[in-house]
Amino acid sequence: VAPVLESTNSELKKRIANSREELANGDTVLAEIQTAGRGRHGRQWLAPVGGSLTFSMYWSFPDGYQSMTGLSLLVGVAICEALQTMGVDDAQVKWPNDIYLGHKKLAGILIEVEGQIGATAHCVIGVGLNVYVPADEFDVGQPHTDLAAVLGSEPDRNELAAKVIASLWEHLDGFAAHGFDRYVPIWESLDIFADKKIVLQMGEKRFCGVDRGVDASGALLVETEDGITRFHGGEVSLRGY
Ligand code: ATP
Repeated sequence: VAPVLESTNSELKKRIANSREELANGDTVLAEIQTAGRGRHGRQWLAPVGGSLTFSMYWSFPDGYQSMTGLSLLVGVAICEALQTMGVDDAQVKWPNDIYLGHKKLAGILIEVEGQIGATAHCVIGVGLNVYVPADEFDVGQPHTDLAAVLGSEPDRNELAAKVIASLWEHLDGFAAHGFDRYVPIWESLDIFADKKIVLQMGEKRFCGVDRGVDASGALLVETEDGITRFHGGEVSLRGY
C-alpha cells in the first residue's frame, strides 16, 4: 500500500519488468491517490484523495493468452459479486471494461499485458472504484456515481478492498483453468445494454446494432440486419442510444 503513486498499473508493470520471479498471482498494489491514473488509450482516471479504491493486481497465464477481453469481463463480474455482498445489488457491466450503477459510471477496469503471444502473459489488472466522488464537486467528463450515494454513507475502504480482492482471487483461478466460457451467462445477466440498441465508436467510424451478449472469448456480439458481427475490444467505445 502506498500513499501516492503515479498509477498503480505503472507501478506494477515496473515491478514485473524488474522482478518477475518474485511476484505471485494475486499480489496487489494499492494507492491512496494516483497522480496520473489512466484509463484506456491514455485517457485519465480521476479520483479525489481518499475517495476511491484504486489498485492493480498481478496474475500470470503460463500458457499465454488468446484474448484479454474475456479477462476484463471476468473482472467486471468479480467486482459486481463483491459489491452484492455489501448490499449493492444493481451494479451492471458495460462491455468491455466498465461498471455502472443507475446508468452512471461507478468503476473502470484497465488490463495491461507484458509478454508475447505463445509465452507467459504477465497481466496487470487495474481497478478504479468510486467510493466518494461527488458529481457536483468532481467533473470527470461523463455521468458518474459512487458507493456512498447508493449506500447512504461511505463504506469502509479496507473492507471493500478485502471483498473485491478476495472475489478476484476466487474467480481468477477458475478463469485461468477454464477460460471465460462458463462466465458468459452471468456476464450477460449483468449487461447494461442487453438486447438494446448500441453504437460502437472506433475512431471516426461508427457501427450500430443490437447488443446480443458475448461469446466464449468475451467478444461482443452485435446484431444488424446482415447478421452478427463480433468485436474484440481494442479501440472500441460503446454507447446506448
Ligand atoms: P468510456 O467510459 O468513454 O466508454 P472507457 O471505458 O474506455 O471509455 P476508460 O478509458 O476506462 O473509459 O476510463 C477513462 C474515462 O473514464 C475518462 O475519459 C473519463 O470520462 C472517465 N472517468 C475518469 N475518472 C472517472 C471516475 N472517477 N469515475 C467515473 N468515470 C471516470
